[in-house]
Amino acid sequence: MSAAFEARLSAELARLRQANLYRTRRVVEGAHGILLKVDGRCCINFCSNDYLGLAADPRVAEAARQALAQGGTGSGASALISGYNLEHARLEEELADFLGRPRALLFSTGWAANLGVLRGLLGKRDVLLADELNHASLIDGGRLSGAEYRRVAHADLPAFAAALEQAGSAHGTKFVVSDAVFSMDGDCADLPALAALSRAHEATLMIDDAHGFGVLGPDGRGSVAAADLDVDDVPIYVATLGKSLGAAGAFVAGSEALIETLIQRARSWVFSTAPPPAIAAAARAALRIVRSEPERRQQLFANIAQLRAGAAMRGIAIGLDGAAAATPTPILPLILGDEARAIALSRYLFERGLWVAAIRPPTVPAGTARLRITLSATHTRAQIEDLLDAIAAGLATLDAQPVAAVRQAALQAEASIAGI
Ligand SMILES: *Cc1c(COP(=O)(O)O)cnc(C)c1O
Repeated sequence: MSAAFEARLSAELARLRQANLYRTRRVVEGAHGILLKVDGRCCINFCSNDYLGLAADPRVAEAARQALAQGGTGSGASALISGYNLEHARLEEELADFLGRPRALLFSTGWAANLGVLRGLLGKRDVLLADELNHASLIDGGRLSGAEYRRVAHADLPAFAAALEQAGSAHGTKFVVSDAVFSMDGDCADLPALAALSRAHEATLMIDDAHGFGVLGPDGRGSVAAADLDVDDVPIYVATLGKSLGAAGAFVAGSEALIETLIQRARSWVFSTAPPPAIAAAARAALRIVRSEPERRQQLFANIAQLRAGAAMRGIAIGLDGAAAATPTPILPLILGDEARAIALSRYLFERGLWVAAIRPPTVPAGTARLRITLSATHTRAQIEDLLDAIAAGLATLDAQPVAAVRQAALQAEASIAGI
């Protein structure tokens, strides 16, 4: 690296640190369950997307272990060359069957799926309407596609209607894309309304259900099933296997023509090594558990209700309110606004064995730094009460401190995690 470039990187890092926007990682030792060991200490994880507690389920691990013993580690090539394994094929069939869709196609990650779909299906003549709070992979995929990108105000149905109207018929395809459950706020898109609008304007609707699949709807079939919609209403359905299923990867489900087109055109799929077969085996085992153990979802929703009621009782504004909170989801943000406050509260909780990572811009809009609390079916009542008590005490402590002290504590907290 040239000295000038090195200096440029250092200056930018220093700026991020001063702004409380510097990001660091903590190292987890062993399994990523709800109870885990991080930085050498045991703590309870309230910031994982392991909503059903399957990431550390012995049956899921055992399925992967058996597949590893029989089939080794790597797939060795992309699916089109020689990397497509019977475990992949069976998983695709089982996902399609579960969702009542003709076909499914497995991707290595949700990021790759969204890039592959948007870049593979859209081009310069097309118009893409996207909710402004969509996941970063949908934003990048949309930009990469070359389609005219229209960012629509969050959940603003009249704005979607106006943008569809404006797009008119002069263009190629009109595409509407939205998260089903918004990943940082936990609110749900109005899928019936988006589907009706899309149909009225002959637009194609794509839904990313990373946080709804396995959690919402009958049998955990996700947000589209929860809204009683099907493949005609939402022709392109994307969901991930690394969140509620506790495995890794993602899939697209839809028509024969959609999947065959992606096989020809989705560059992030065509030019990428197929996932390890054992990961597909793990996802298959997790899907069987999702289908056969509805009590996990019931427990998750009981936990969500407990957290919401407990927060209300203590006067803590956790989660959104009003219409935005109409559909309970396991994502419950505590919005603090200021980055330093978010870091300081996260630190306070971590010192008490409760892990809730602080989420800051650019992941969330400026001025909305937050603790993104997520719940799992495997959290206990006592753990949730402990979290609520600690948040109440932590907020009181922060409120009693001058702003400068909170800022200084936040800087030190980040520095100590980064080891700098
Ligand atoms: C996590 C997530 C993705 C990315 O999926 P990965 O498998 O983690 O790459 C895509 N969309 C949404 C809404 C997500 O939350």
